[in-house]
Amino acid sequence: MDRTVTGFRTDGDDGWVAILDCHHGRHVRHHPPWPEGPWAQTEEGRQSMLGTVVDCPKCERIEMPDGLVHDRTTAEWNEDTLPRAVRRDHKVAGGVWGQARVIEGSIRFGFADGLGGEISGDGVLETGDKQPIPPNRPHHLEVIGPVRVVVDFFVMTS
Ligand SMILES: [Zn+2]
Repeated sequence: MDRTVTGFRTDGDDGWVAILDCHHGRHVRHHPPWPEGPWAQTEEGRQSMLGTVVDCPKCERIEMPDGLVHDRTTAEWNEDTLPRAVRRDHKVAGGVWGQARVIEGSIRFGFADGLGGEISGDGVLETGDKQPIPPNRPHHLEVIGPVRVVVDFFVMTS
């Protein structure tokens, strides 16, 4: 899915890595639409690429970025108290990763953008399951029976 370049870091001998607003990195040299050229070798060149939109396959694969820190957890919800706003399609805020975590029971999770990434084929999460939720991907929870569920939120602090 589309992400925005927010900065760059070096990866040792491996060259420059663009940092995206989802906190994933993408190596500059491999990926179109990056133009080949010396731009990545200068501060000015890198600055000129800030704000560029690139595809992030790691978000579609729901790989949680390294270095995330737990920020907060929702109240514990059950099949009666799960808020309507969570049952409808909604998004986690930009730069924040969510994780639906089933304490007990089962609930159905679905992304609304058709890109996939549900950890089970039919979307059903069971006791102990954790479903990562990337920033800005529309999703919802659907009550299918008794459940105790929370959503954890993670941020990048550095
Ligand atoms: Zn990403």
